[in-house]
Amino acid sequence: MDTLLRTHNDLLPLPPLLAPSPSPKPQVPAFIPFLKKTPHPRWSRTALSLSSTSASAAAGAFLELVPEAKKETLNFDLPRYDATNRPTLDLVVVGGGPAGLAVAKRVSEAGLSVCSIDPFPNLVWPNNYGVWVDEFAAMDLLDCLDASWSSASVFINDATSKLLSRPYARVDRRRLKSRMLLACLSNGVRFHQSKVLNVVHEDSRSILFCSDGTAIPASVVLDATGFSRCLIRYDKPYNPGYQVAYGILAEVEEHPFELDQMVFMDWRDSHLKLRPELKRRNAASPTFLYAMPFSSNRIFLEETSLVARPGLAIEDIQERMVERLRHLGIQIKRIEEDERCVIPMGGPLPVLPQRVLGIGGTAGMVHPSTGYMVARTLAAAPIVADAIVRYLGGSGEEVSAKVWKDLWPIERRRQREFFCFGMDVLLRLDLEGTRRFFDAFFGLEARYWHGFLSSRLFLPELVRFGFSLFGNASNTCRLEIMAKGTIPLVNMMNNLLKDVEY
Ligand SMILES: Cc1cc2nc3c(=O)[nH]c(=O)nc-3n(C[C@H](O)[C@H](O)[C@H](O)COP(=O)(O)OP(=O)(O)OC[C@H]3O[C@@H](n4cnc5c(N)ncnc54)[C@H](O)[C@@H]3O)c2cc1C
Repeated sequence: MDTLLRTHNDLLPLPPLLAPSPSPKPQVPAFIPFLKKTPHPRWSRTALSLSSTSASAAAGAFLELVPEAKKETLNFDLPRYDATNRPTLDLVVVGGGPAGLAVAKRVSEAGLSVCSIDPFPNLVWPNNYGVWVDEFAAMDLLDCLDASWSSASVFINDATSKLLSRPYARVDRRRLKSRMLLACLSNGVRFHQSKVLNVVHEDSRSILFCSDGTAIPASVVLDATGFSRCLIRYDKPYNPGYQVAYGILAEVEEHPFELDQMVFMDWRDSHLKLRPELKRRNAASPTFLYAMPFSSNRIFLEETSLVARPGLAIEDIQERMVERLRHLGIQIKRIEEDERCVIPMGGPLPVLPQRVLGIGGTAGMVHPSTGYMVARTLAAAPIVADAIVRYLGGSGEEVSAKVWKDLWPIERRRQREFFCFGMDVLLRLDLEGTRRFFDAFFGLEARYWHGFLSSRLFLPELVRFGFSLFGNASNTCRLEIMAKGTIPLVNMMNNLLKDVEY
């Protein structure tokens, strides 16, 4: 079956995922929304003998384990939108992910009428979100974390590792969503369970058309549909990098990690020494392990390609993960959940301004160098919500223009441009280059690397960050940054010069 790529609001058929190949960069052709969970034939019971060693085959058997818990739902009795009388609402939020619900909650708090449309409004969000604790503390959301680690480790290679004394946590997505839904309920938000197909604009209102035939009029429409980018328009070629990862929350016999440290990045590759072909692929397009140990026998493990264009094939990532877990002596007994992560990073911003508003994945808010977004989006939700409340009453176009300006002011656009530059450099680095880069990056003063990862630095500080990184880097790394960063730097300068106030 063809996979669908959404770009410029059109659905284009794509060839199916590429299987791992002997070529140095087996890749997915582009972003695949709702990646289909068909086990690759390589991992079928009969095909396991294809692996180079029987130990690998046994280690790879975990890929056949079916996750036990999927599609957890909440039991809220959500008040429905009155589709018979079709009242015109102040705001309709399309998409009930973290971004959409955060805005619905805040706008409804101000007494405005709000409807949230989502095909699965009671579904617990499926992703395992990780955040830095200080990011959630700043938003008074510490009670929405369900596990935390006092520090995070980064393994550069077998000889070098770093301990980051910055607490990290997993988001309690059930609690966060419940908290948002409860607030929405008490503020009178209405819910409509459907998929939005289209929108038509009049001067002072817009009408949304849903897959169940319902038409919902509203003064303001917010697209919060994540990477499916339902209504938001883009007018430039969509050319992001892709973060691709395969993760499992698993019960294991044992694992070698400290319980008070999460593993932010493990770039070691000694697990590939018996697999020269895989080692070569990994040397050209590296992947790392990200791990959150919950107890001595329960752990979240994710093999991740930080960024590549096009993205790596999930089967390639799984193959590397099998070897890594085997090498680490981790035997999987049971998989509670798995996640296939494909995050578009960087690429152009949507058309600014445009009549439909956007937030989250749909509005270019993923950090282009890291793929992180939850904390940044939740912090931006009050900005968007307060702007909607403040400007509502003008013509549709005027309101939208003002809200977009508050969401993407020039300083944020410049910051994003710098992060895209960072992504462009990372895209060009092989394993050794990536190791040298992160050795220098995590050796920086905390305010620099914290600020970079949490989108707290703006252009003047980012320039200082850049010089500091350069000063902290090894000579080889400096030469590499100069050689591989020149074109991205020129592109960034061009884009910064072209970007003017709208
Ligand atoms: C597997 C995975 C793991 C991630 N992990 C992290 C992490 O650890 N930390 C981090 O900071 N970021 C992470 N991200 C990135 C990002 O934070 C998440 O993608 C986040 O969920 C984006 O939030 P959102 O609200 O913009 O979109 P989503 O969470 O994708 O929500 C979009 C909502 O819109 C609905 N929808 C879609 N189309 C329509 C339509 N046509 N009509 C109506 N509703 C529609 C969907 O049902 C969904 O509920 C991860 C992403 C993925 C994919």
